[in-house]
Amino acid sequence: MKAVRLVGSGKSLELQEIPIPAPGPTEALVRVKAAGICHSDVHMQSGHHPVSRTPITLGHEVAGIVEAVGELVDKAWIGQRVGIHYVVGCGQCSYCRQGRDPLCTNPNFLSATLDGGFAEFIVAPALNLVPLPAEVAFEHGAVLMCSAATSYHALTRSRLQAGESVALFGVGGVGMTMVQLARAFGAAKVFAVDIQTDKLQIAQRYGAIPVNATQVDPVVEIQRQTDGLGVEVAVGIVGLAKTMEQAVRAVRAGGRAVLVGMADQAMQLNPMEDVVVKEVEILGSIDHLYNELPIVVEFARNGILDMAGVVERTIPLDPQAINDAFTALDRFGGAVRTVILPG
Ligand SMILES: [Zn+2]
Ligand SMILES: [Zn+2]
Repeated sequence: MKAVRLVGSGKSLELQEIPIPAPGPTEALVRVKAAGICHSDVHMQSGHHPVSRTPITLGHEVAGIVEAVGELVDKAWIGQRVGIHYVVGCGQCSYCRQGRDPLCTNPNFLSATLDGGFAEFIVAPALNLVPLPAEVAFEHGAVLMCSAATSYHALTRSRLQAGESVALFGVGGVGMTMVQLARAFGAAKVFAVDIQTDKLQIAQRYGAIPVNATQVDPVVEIQRQTDGLGVEVAVGIVGLAKTMEQAVRAVRAGGRAVLVGMADQAMQLNPMEDVVVKEVEILGSIDHLYNELPIVVEFARNGILDMAGVVERTIPLDPQAINDAFTALDRFGGAVRTVILPG
């Protein structure tokens, strides 16, 4: 089968012809119909985020049709439309036992330690399959497995209540679904902060108040539009220390800041001014739980989540097109989400 693979840190992805993998006793073989290109794939390609081996097939936002299953798996899966949960917990540690597999002490991940979805077929544990109803397109189902679920998890971590105000720093694939989910959670005001006019326009169509950080100081602007108080909930989505600092400072006294983006520079905060006297909570949020995936799939099926503005472009399983999409993402440009359709 064809697979577009990482052959070495920092190198362009290469098309390789490799054998179709055989599912183990508890696994399923899935014919890939759609695989999203995410910023974390770019981090794995650049070496910023480690992979366990090369060559490895990247791609952790995957949807397709079950082609075959191992001997211990229910045969009823065969022929079903599915998405795949990319966190493969060990199932044994205390976090896996609590259902918090993103915190697993010995985890595997599609595309970081296991071959991912930039290929014609993928093998995954049957426990990681998520049924995808016919109304949800494969390219939307793929992106639901990462960005939408990550958004849902972060908003759940924030304990957002109906009537509260929210500021989202960065409206790419994650932020654009978070705008919609925050509205669905009953947020009174959702501020979308970004530096790209086209993304801000899409966010506005989904009900956000756009804040262009190239034109105004977003913290000052958000305070101006919230009676000088700031928002109850801010989410730092872009992986930059500066936007994380802005997210914390945009929160009003008693509010919550959730940090989602993979910023690995030091963040500069004044503990007294920014956190202590305001009783601000700073929370981390990573990935999502298996149980959150059927919820976002249902939101997409019934129209609460519109994925059409999130998936802006589809490309074939072609290494040049994929490498170009990586370059565009690395410059914080390009489509909100590009999805590969292997055909
Ligand atoms: Zn992703
Ligand atoms: Zn575990």
